[in-house]
Amino acid sequence: MNKKGKLFIISAPSGAGKTTLCNKLLEKYDDLFYSVSYTTREPRFDEKDGKDYFFISREKFNSMVSNDEFLEWAEVHGNYYGTSKKFINESLESGKNIILDIDPQGARQLRTKLSYGVYIFIIAPSIGDLKKRLIDRRTETMDKIELRIQNAKKEIAYFKEYDYIIINRDIGSSYRELESIYIAEHLRTYDVENIEDIFSMEE
Ligand code: 5GP
Repeated sequence: MNKKGKLFIISAPSGAGKTTLCNKLLEKYDDLFYSVSYTTREPRFDEKDGKDYFFISREKFNSMVSNDEFLEWAEVHGNYYGTSKKFINESLESGKNIILDIDPQGARQLRTKLSYGVYIFIIAPSIGDLKKRLIDRRTETMDKIELRIQNAKKEIAYFKEYDYIIINRDIGSSYRELESIYIAEHLRTYDVENIEDIFSMEE
């Protein structure tokens, strides 16, 4: 029988560098997959439907909520975002490890629903850094950047609800920290039911 996969729930205020860090980890580990969320947000110029998000209408989102198709969902920065229940359940059952990139409201919903999951919070060293990264990224208008900065200030207060925190001062060391968490989580004793499964008693 397949061992169940692990769920890594990652939250970070916009501009923390989360996408770069997650992509590096996804490139390295073949058994790690990204959960593509559904959103009512407009795609950015470089985003692809089905890869970055499934871009859907409010009507479609509402019908998915009514049909209980989301493991969690939330309104973030004025748009709706949700995680496919089917994708997560099927992936974990088949032994795939999954990265979920969701906001703190979604992470909190999962904490109350699931008995498993590794919760990781990633932040830039300061609000000033976040703002600079968002401006440099050029994906948002100044109004939207201001909204994301205000939301970042609120989101940071949730850090205690996570198992790990990474302060992203530079990508290299933050990536090592993220990978260390990933490796350590695969060495948990609670994943081993019988020692004979991994150790031979034969002399
Ligand atoms: P962005 O618009 O910058 O892609 O994402 C905005 C925020 O929505 C980020 O904090 C991201 O983690 C969050 N987000 C993306 N997908 C989901 C989801 O499926 N559920 C929830 N709760 N948040 C999500």
